[in-house]
Amino acid sequence: MEDDERFIASTKSEVDEVIENSLRPNTLKEYVGQKKIKDSLSIYIEAAKARHEALDHVLLFGPPGLGKTTLSHIIANELGAQLKVTSGPAIEHAADLAAILTNLGKNDVLFIDEIHRLSRAVEEVLYPAMEDFALDFVVGKGPAAKSIRLKIQPFTLIGATTRAGMLTGPLRDRFGVLGRLELYEPEELSTILSRSANILHIDITPEASLLIARSSRGTPRIANRFLKRIRDYADVKGSGKIDEDITHKALKMMEVDDLGLDFIDHRLLSTIIDKFGGGPVGLDTLSAATGEEATTIEEAYEPFLIQQGFIARTSKGRVAMPLAYEHLGRKLEENKEKQLKTLAKDNIPE
Ligand code: ADP
Repeated sequence: MEDDERFIASTKSEVDEVIENSLRPNTLKEYVGQKKIKDSLSIYIEAAKARHEALDHVLLFGPPGLGKTTLSHIIANELGAQLKVTSGPAIEHAADLAAILTNLGKNDVLFIDEIHRLSRAVEEVLYPAMEDFALDFVVGKGPAAKSIRLKIQPFTLIGATTRAGMLTGPLRDRFGVLGRLELYEPEELSTILSRSANILHIDITPEASLLIARSSRGTPRIANRFLKRIRDYADVKGSGKIDEDITHKALKMMEVDDLGLDFIDHRLLSTIIDKFGGGPVGLDTLSAATGEEATTIEEAYEPFLIQQGFIARTSKGRVAMPLAYEHLGRKLEENKEKQLKTLAKDNIPE
């Protein structure tokens, strides 16, 4: 099954795109959670505005669906600047990027999603643009070749990527503000859901909202998508109101368990436990054994499983934690448990 077909896929579908635009908060104040980034951004934005300067370049990183695009819209809005949105794979040639950059107005914001997917040639156009607000061209060939520098308007680049480590060093170093987005707490997602329900005129109880929040893998995109699917269920099978009972039934129909894990999570966990004795198992081996792409496991599935304590990422590979055994109803011998916990101590951060 493709990630897009998965109810809890954190990547975006076209339908999501339309609805997401209507649900996007417009100000930092409306943007729920992510306090650390919000606090620092609000200071930098205020300072840039007071000096009539472009905000320093911002790199946002974190799993899909956590609000990177939303935040870039908000930053532009708070700055009172125009926003131009594009993505790494969409910029094929250096000249495409040069055209975008020369068309930016003073202190505008350029958002490049999936910035780690820029080609090397395109990336090199960015270096002088970010550093000196300039484009360098070489005119002519051989000994007569001359380098020409063209000034462009000062601008702010906001780059988004799933992991900061995927960027080349020279590109990463040119960002002045680094913002790591964290998975959201259920209470935060519940606040986002209440707001979305309000906008979409959906009748939902606070209990149901919290239940959906708990099943949404810490991800606003998944929470909002569940809200819409459960509304459909409530319209057809109930009175239209979303309560706990309807939510339980709808989640069950979507094969999502009470902790927000779906069949792919179950497959990943059972593979580690049943085929690899709880691990450690390397990412590529796990990918081959489950048929899921390694990068998808790493970027979309695993952050939530790690955050919730189902698995640990160690230098030797992925290890299943006692919670995974318990959740899947697998027996865990005492010495095995000790062994897994010792292995997990060697936990490596992202
Ligand atoms: P990303 O760019 O990280 O993949 P998006 O910015 O597209 O994620 O966010 C997905 C959806 O989740 C948006 O439509 C937005 O409505 C919602 N969302 C994300 N973060 C927040 C937040 N902090 N507060 C409210 N809604 C949010």
